[in-house]
Amino acid sequence: MTLRSPRTGLDRKARARDLLEASAVDALLLQKAENRRYVTGFTGSAGLAVLTAAEAWLAVDFRYEEQAAGEASGWTIVRGGRDPLGALAATLRDRALGRIGFESEFVPYAQVERLREKLAPAELVPLGSVDRIRWVKDADEISAIARAAEIADAAYGQIRERLRPGQPERAVALELEFAMRRMGADRLAFDTVLASGPRSALPHGRATDRAIGADELVTLDFGAVWHGYCSDCTRTVVLGHAGQRQRRVYDVVVEALDAALAMLRPGVVCRDADSRARGIIAAAGFGEAFGHSLGHGVGLDVHEGPRLSQQDETVLEPGMVLTVEPGIYLPGWGGVRVEELVVLTEDGCRVLTRAPRDLHLASV
Ligand code: ZN
Ligand code: ZN
Repeated sequence: MTLRSPRTGLDRKARARDLLEASAVDALLLQKAENRRYVTGFTGSAGLAVLTAAEAWLAVDFRYEEQAAGEASGWTIVRGGRDPLGALAATLRDRALGRIGFESEFVPYAQVERLREKLAPAELVPLGSVDRIRWVKDADEISAIARAAEIADAAYGQIRERLRPGQPERAVALELEFAMRRMGADRLAFDTVLASGPRSALPHGRATDRAIGADELVTLDFGAVWHGYCSDCTRTVVLGHAGQRQRRVYDVVVEALDAALAMLRPGVVCRDADSRARGIIAAAGFGEAFGHSLGHGVGLDVHEGPRLSQQDETVLEPGMVLTVEPGIYLPGWGGVRVEELVVLTEDGCRVLTRAPRDLHLASV
């Protein structure tokens, strides 16, 4: 399958301008890599993007002057040499911008002070939810996320065939990571979680030198990045014979997962999906053992909004990409989590993950 690289359309600038208008600021200053990349198309690690109702500048340092000119079409590149903020301030001076909104959840305090000093007399206005412009994905973004998921699925398929008791967790995680890179991943979406036996009760257990035992629960949580976009998948398996309690806990998790998947559609409130899955787990007697939220948005960031949690009242819209990942963690015994990646369609959701879900690896 060949896919175009995600491209930046006019609609992304328009979305940022909607935020600019809604926030009653004269300009939007974007420094968080994912937001900057989203609106400009520039993939470098540093730079300041400034958008007003009529103009758009991208200030970069010496390292990125050529790259930015090539990637950020429709943006005026401010060649910043060793002082991109100084060059940007000089460019903006005669625009007399009154209020400049910045990403208050991202920009460090010391940088806010520098911005204040350099961009004076403009007033810096903290904006709390700039990432929101990226929540609804376009077709190119969904294709990229689906491709990242496909790479992760294929890598998991390879190592699943070769899983045997006695292998150290670290060796299996490394193989999985290597397979994702070999199949075209830009990088890993996050540090791979691989936890076996009682360690599987750690929701984010990193791989150790522990040898995976027969008949133990093994949790693998992994993701690839393709053209900047992340995937995120969790599977739990038992190598050998799955005991009664392991099956019971697994079945409850999958029931909660499927119930949440069945209700995800535009118009549903995030909190209600979390409640549905949480209710099933609680009714089975494991309420205390599901201590995290049900899921999160995925895109340029592996963890972004909206969240399927008790605190999030966002109404789901077509094009949102989310994980659904109920889990049950019993300290000293082990844990089970199964995570699917879905995209909201016009009338429901489509699961992007294809990795087999079955608990029991009978081939061992
Ligand atoms: Zn995950
Ligand atoms: Zn996740």
